[in-house]
Amino acid sequence: MSNLDHIDFATIVDLVENRVAPKLRTESMAHISSCSPCAEKLRRLSEVVTLMQTDRTVDAPRDVVAYAMGIFSGRAKSPRQSLKRRILAALSFDSVNQAPAFGLRSGQTGTRQLIYSAEENDIDLRITLHEDMWVVAGQVLRETCAGGRVEIEGLSGSTSAALNEMCEFTLPAVPPGNYLLRVHMADVEVELPRLELTA
Ligand SMILES: [Zn+2]
Repeated sequence: MSNLDHIDFATIVDLVENRVAPKLRTESMAHISSCSPCAEKLRRLSEVVTLMQTDRTVDAPRDVVAYAMGIFSGRAKSPRQSLKRRILAALSFDSVNQAPAFGLRSGQTGTRQLIYSAEENDIDLRITLHEDMWVVAGQVLRETCAGGRVEIEGLSGSTSAALNEMCEFTLPAVPPGNYLLRVHMADVEVELPRLELTA
């Protein structure tokens, strides 16, 4: 590879995903160290791939390809803005609706489990009544959620909790009411259907 040739897109993706033979890697990095367009491409792609790589079996997420090929360019000034999608989660499991052996029925004390699906993001909620206040805790089931947080918003205001390294969270207790839950992550924002926490 001559130093004048830019690194092709597939190779940059391979570099980001660490799938380049050592020799090609050395050559590519030599080029990148003296070529700012390629360096910038590598930097942006690493950032995006890191954000979006929730499944290691996927080589290059389609959105990353679209982004790197410039499909999103000009839509928004910040690459994060153009990639941050809002998705609506759908309820896929509610322990209240299960047979008694499976979960706790409405009106019983204990923890209610709700599982929501939103594309590759599943959200497992555990809702517990504790001294007339509701505690919403749970886990976002995805590989990485660095910097993520969960926000709960109701008539009385909103509060939030950060996701830990296991993507778990526990929100501060809230009074009974109707709430909106949102999971903010680097690449997506997931909104859950309205949650009714009755007294
Ligand atoms: Zn170049």
